Amino acid sequence: MGLRILHKHRSLRLEKQQRLEDEARRSEYAQARIRAEVQRRKEAERERQRQVRREQEVREQEESARATQKAKEHSQRQQDAFKAQQKQEDRRMYQQWREMCDIIFTHPAQATRIPEPPNWPCGDIGCTVPRKLKACRHNLERFFSATGDIQLTLNEERLRWSPNRRVFAELENNGVKGAGGMATELFQVMGSLRSE
Ligand SMILES: [Zn+2]
Repeated sequence: MGLRILHKHRSLRLEKQQRLEDEARRSEYAQARIRAEVQRRKEAERERQRQVRREQEVREQEESARATQKAKEHSQRQQDAFKAQQKQEDRRMYQQWREMCDIIFTHPAQATRIPEPPNWPCGDIGCTVPRKLKACRHNLERFFSATGDIQLTLNEERLRWSPNRRVFAELENNGVKGAGGMATELFQVMGSLRSE
């Protein structure tokens, strides 16, 4: 009888110990799950922040690309406007030069000199400037292009500057030295520009 009670008592104690151990294990599992969950949420938050940064970077790149494109377009418009203005100025200069030459060809006796075509700075490497003219062939190409039809202009000018014209001998006789030489050079350069 006494032994049975003792046995039961021990059994209860073992049961209780077992229960305590189970509880401890469950608590450990629960804590591990909580830690894992906390870790998962931290990782998710980090990933969300990375995503925000990536989106921010993409927006900044797009913004920068748009700004670059806008600046390029602005610069292109400015360049086009500058070129158009230059072309207009070239045309005005050409018309003025042609009118002055026409007056001289019509009244060679009153002429003292022949106006030179403009000699703009030339960026062409190895450019050879004709001996009598200050303008190089590139200057002349630009000058005669100002009309909008260089071939037509060259055809007209070749007739006007033909060295065989009597007017150049008259000019030389009137003291306009170099008139014949200038006509010859202009005629030659125009010829080579025309055949290009
Ligand atoms: Zn040149």
